[in-house]
Amino acid sequence: MCSEPRIAPGILVVIAGPSGAGKTTLAHHLVKTFPDARFSVSTTTRSLRGEEVHGEDYFFVEDAEFEQRLADGYFVEWAEVHGERYGTSAEWVRRTLAGGKSVILDIDVQGAIQVKRVFPGSILVFVLPPSPSVLMKRLVSRNTDSPGIVRNRLHAAEEEISWIGSFDYYILNDCLSNSLNRIEAIFMAESSRLKNLPLPPQVRAYGPERFHGLDQWKGSKVIVTSGPTREFVDEVRFISNRSSGLMGTGMAEAFRDGGADVVFITGPCCHSDPSSVRTIRVTSATEMLNAVRREISGAELLVMTAAVSDLRPASRRDGKMERGGGITLDMESTPDILASLQDDLAMERCRVLAFALEYGGEALSRASAKMRRKGASMLFMNRGDQIGSGMETHGNSGFILFDNGSSIEVPQGSKRIVAALIAAAAGRYLQEDGGLLN
Ligand code: ADP
Ligand code: 5GP
Repeated sequence: MCSEPRIAPGILVVIAGPSGAGKTTLAHHLVKTFPDARFSVSTTTRSLRGEEVHGEDYFFVEDAEFEQRLADGYFVEWAEVHGERYGTSAEWVRRTLAGGKSVILDIDVQGAIQVKRVFPGSILVFVLPPSPSVLMKRLVSRNTDSPGIVRNRLHAAEEEISWIGSFDYYILNDCLSNSLNRIEAIFMAESSRLKNLPLPPQVRAYGPERFHGLDQWKGSKVIVTSGPTREFVDEVRFISNRSSGLMGTGMAEAFRDGGADVVFITGPCCHSDPSSVRTIRVTSATEMLNAVRREISGAELLVMTAAVSDLRPASRRDGKMERGGGITLDMESTPDILASLQDDLAMERCRVLAFALEYGGEALSRASAKMRRKGASMLFMNRGDQIGSGMETHGNSGFILFDNGSSIEVPQGSKRIVAALIAAAAGRYLQEDGGLLN
């Protein structure tokens, strides 16, 4: 018999949608089905109704108490819904996730959007009632609200449904058994995700040095640059590129998992910072160079994942240029970070892992020439013209080239896994090479 474990690592699932759509039904189903899922009990100013129990359905509080909790920063999100206030405890959510449990929130649409801002890895599920008339029937048959309140809730549904585009999933809650299957499927798929989640501990049983480098980076300072940079034309527009920052984030996490003391220097991208890693946010190539210069002392490896913009406007205009008529921009090169650091004494000790995104034929020989030109010990080359690899994708594949002429092909995988393989391979190479990691 199949013994698929029903235990998931901590994920945050937010179930939202109009009142009466079926959120509570689906949220309670998850908690009953998955032993490690916990339901978040909200605080509300509305009064207890019917069979509700304080501390199980809600924490029912007076206005003044809600106000105090707001002032104390108690809520990760809160909203006024149908004239009453509701909020979710920040501390409870953080503690529960940190304990490896999953958290299920049953909240309104405004609250869901606030949660996504604080926890970008949260999964937003929109519960869509099949039609206004069915929604009305459900609100009436639930028998918890007066006709006036039912009318208000129906009216509010229109505005709430207009936010559906900000959600990750939707469930058309028509046939209940289908909806229950769907919410289970979403939960199971999301808890099996590798992106943004720690690798499952069982991975270590299959040759941990391939994934984690056996702590081979312990005690080493590693600087990882990541993301795009921006070069401003005026105060509104900029020149940049399609880098998502996912690969750089994966590299920072992989070196962290390998025991390194990682400094993560990232251009603007909207991912959350890798946990337990010192993160420095920059905007332009010059700012990235300055940050690397400040941090380079004591570093043993500089990982140049960032897609630094090569060009910038020769001058930045004040304010916002008027549209119309067309413009010609005078462009100049941005500083080459490695070339600019050449005279820095700290660079003598520091090895470089470069990255090259190549298009077209002869990609390997161009990448190899780039590695030598940059004085890098290693270079990861991926192809921009290969589906599923490169910029704005979750996956990657390519070749790691070493300055002794050898290379390793890295098969297609999530950026997280590809980053772990590169970090482990880089660690092994520098050790075997009599490098600095002894
Ligand atoms: P919400 O939490 O979104 O306000 P509930 O989960 O309380 O909604 O559901 C509203 C009412 O509709 C409840 O009486 C519930 O039992 C019922 N219900 C939920 N889903 C369905 C469905 N698919 N088919 C029929 N009734 C449903
Ligand atoms: P009810 O009063 O019917 O229990 O809930 C009314 C609405 O408030 C529902 O849409 C419910 O999901 C939402 N709600 C419940 N708790 C919270 C919360 O903590 N935060 C937010 N933003 N909405 C909540």
